[in-house]
Amino acid sequence: MAVGVFDLFSIGIGPSSSHTVGPMRAAAVFAEELKSSGALDRVASLRVDLYGSLAATGHGHGTMTAILLGLEGFHPELILPDEVEERLAAIAETGTLQLAGAVPLPYGVQDMVLRPLTILPRHTNGMTFTIFDAEDEILHTATFFSVGGGFIVREGEEDAARQQLEESKKELPLPFRTAAELLGRSQSKGLSIADIMLVNEKASRSEEDIREGLLHIWSVMEDCVQVSLKREGLLPGGLKVRRRAPDWHDRLLKEDKDRDPKYWQEWVNLIALAVNEENASGGRVVTAPTNGAAGIIPAVLYYALHYAPGMENATKEDRDDVVVKFLLTAGAVGVLYKEQASISGAEVGCQGEVGSASSMAAAGLAEVMGGTPAQVENAAEIAMEHNLGLTCDPIGGLVQVPCIERNAIAAAKAINAAKMALWGDGSHRVSLDEVIVTMRETGKDMSSKYKETAMGGLAVNVAVC
Ligand code: SF4
Repeated sequence: MAVGVFDLFSIGIGPSSSHTVGPMRAAAVFAEELKSSGALDRVASLRVDLYGSLAATGHGHGTMTAILLGLEGFHPELILPDEVEERLAAIAETGTLQLAGAVPLPYGVQDMVLRPLTILPRHTNGMTFTIFDAEDEILHTATFFSVGGGFIVREGEEDAARQQLEESKKELPLPFRTAAELLGRSQSKGLSIADIMLVNEKASRSEEDIREGLLHIWSVMEDCVQVSLKREGLLPGGLKVRRRAPDWHDRLLKEDKDRDPKYWQEWVNLIALAVNEENASGGRVVTAPTNGAAGIIPAVLYYALHYAPGMENATKEDRDDVVVKFLLTAGAVGVLYKEQASISGAEVGCQGEVGSASSMAAAGLAEVMGGTPAQVENAAEIAMEHNLGLTCDPIGGLVQVPCIERNAIAAAKAINAAKMALWGDGSHRVSLDEVIVTMRETGKDMSSKYKETAMGGLAVNVAVC
């Protein structure tokens, strides 16, 4: 299917879409195949090989434990945070995995084979699952790639998947691959960017379902913030990073009782921190469009709902309209990054994760603040232009430093980008397409040290102790 808004905003668990959500999804697909192939009855042993970035930063990103859960048959969008803890504790205690929820097999994180220096041709985030019978004969094997944002591709099916994608795009009433095409459609039909996205989404579900689905996405984002604000202490992983959101929230409640607009920045920072602290602790988040960058869109949408002109007297319906419009527009821009570049930190560095999210958020904000399609495109362009070259160098391979603060900074950049675009008339020197292509090429040239391997930058210059 063509990439849609519900692919870019999916519900999952932290801390990483490419290293947690994607691998869990791939392992769950493998487990389902075992069930339907009948091979499950003859399984005697299992082997999991992890390649490239998954092997390099998998421990910090929860890849191995996510795979264990996927092999048990759990899916990232359905598993509850309590279930995660419960099952992982049981596996650790018994040393036994319930393969496909049915066959007990002695297996744990320590049994996985890590190949950080081996990069498979399709993508750096590769993983192979193999099961054997009692004679050590292979019963079933499959290799998957986690290509960013929780999306997975199976080895050998890349061309078929690409062809299917192209075919499905033909079914869209207003397909677009580039910002130029998107603007062209908008101009010829007299529709906003959000409207174009809505028309395309309606090819696969009703308008009512789309609205309900997007409002549900926003409610999960809000819940994530509320849960995070109640949790205190250190984030897991050994870096000793303290959760700051609960304290900041208490302080804001005291200092900003009257919701003075001068505190907008502090509230935006708070939302971004809360989401990313929850993500770092493996909690329930909305991948937007990745987990590492999950705080930016909620923080900017929060700004839109609380500080955009005219929101003081908004009804519940007006506020819901803002949420729907914002997410549709951000989704349209997300499609451009998926189509022309990448949203995977392992492929193009953090510019693909935080940069894309910032650009999507800027577009969403410009749209709900009354921007023309040209101004919306300009907002998305400004936000990405000033995230170009952003590297991925998470300390200790954990999605904590620089990721958590980086979301707050990128949210502020998105707000500024939208404001700058709205003060212009939409005409500008550098197009969004030119910036997206530049992002892709910069990512290609970037050393692998800065692409989610924790082998460069802050990851090697900051002592972990
Ligand atoms: S540095 Fe950026 S790309 Fe890398 S893990 Fe953190 S948020 Fe993701």
